[in-house]
Amino acid sequence: MAGDKRAERIAEFIRPLRVEPGSKVRLSRDFDPAYRGDVLRKKDGRELLAAGVTLLADYQRRLAAQNTYGVLVCLQALDAGGKDGTIRHVMSGVNPQGVRVSGFKVPSSEELDHDYLWRYARRLPARGDIGIFNRSHYEEVLVVRVHPEHLDHQRLPASARRGHVWARRFREINDWEHYLTDNGFKIVKLFLNLSKEEQRARFLRRIDRPDRNWKFSAADARERRFWDDYQRAFSKVLSATSTEWAPWYVIPADRKWFARTCAAAVLAHTLIDIDPQYPTVSDERRDDLLVARAELENEAPEGAPADPYAAAAEKKRQKKKKKKH
Ligand code: ATP
Ligand code: MG
Repeated sequence: MAGDKRAERIAEFIRPLRVEPGSKVRLSRDFDPAYRGDVLRKKDGRELLAAGVTLLADYQRRLAAQNTYGVLVCLQALDAGGKDGTIRHVMSGVNPQGVRVSGFKVPSSEELDHDYLWRYARRLPARGDIGIFNRSHYEEVLVVRVHPEHLDHQRLPASARRGHVWARRFREINDWEHYLTDNGFKIVKLFLNLSKEEQRARFLRRIDRPDRNWKFSAADARERRFWDDYQRAFSKVLSATSTEWAPWYVIPADRKWFARTCAAAVLAHTLIDIDPQYPTVSDERRDDLLVARAELENEAPEGAPADPYAAAAEKKRQKKKKKKH
């Protein structure tokens, strides 16, 4: 019951961030980068995030044990949107063995020799795993759209460049994601929505603080000039590719602590929805286990208890009992 309530609270918390499939989004009008719901204080946000991280760790263990579903998290943002920090914080509690982060930069010549989804398909998570795409196949309808010269490098046949390239890519991406979802791979799509002013402030910090210089490049400042083009391109992506099977969530990113809390909540929501279970053993296997147990007990050396753990627990119980009296 308590679990249901928690699930409901998380669902409610993330509802305003979800892009309704079929709706026409205009970012500047529909989503406020400074929104923070009813979580007004950073301290509350921190507590929520800590609760989310604990919950994620538990669900990730079950996801791995069940080995039936996989989860793919796609993180998109403009520069300084906070992708790296979000990954670091949201994943801080989970077993690194079950998570793989893949970053996508300008494609290599080997990658350009393949269809445009190839390099993303190669990095998909296995069943039981969580894969995180730091930038994702959505770059193929974002940066490639804003800078069409990238399309020229993709060696597409003329037929693939005729007509509505972007509309076709949206359909292909939706179909690909539908196929993955149908086959047990849930897709979590997060857009960290930063305001232009907050990006300016973060860039300035990166320039002023020596320990952050490595995070800033002149290319970032150049890309900022295309701000409006990116806003338009993102609006189109959100309108065309938020689907029932893989909806987009627009995360208000001007406050890092709030963005991280939201990201953890969306991921938690997905895992709760999957509800992975530890596999149960069959009666036959249970019998095998009991035989093995008896053998191990028989191997106890002189003077050692047959089952050290059970003996220690019993001792503890007796001690407690004595204390009570
Ligand atoms: P950081 O936040 O640390 O800067 P980053 O993800 O921005 O990380 P960079 O090496 O700065 O990493 O930038 C990667 C660049 O690769 C981005 O400018 C992005 O637009 C570009 N890129 C990603 N995918 C593609 C693609 N398919 N085609 C062309 N460019 C791409
Ligand atoms: Mg960058």
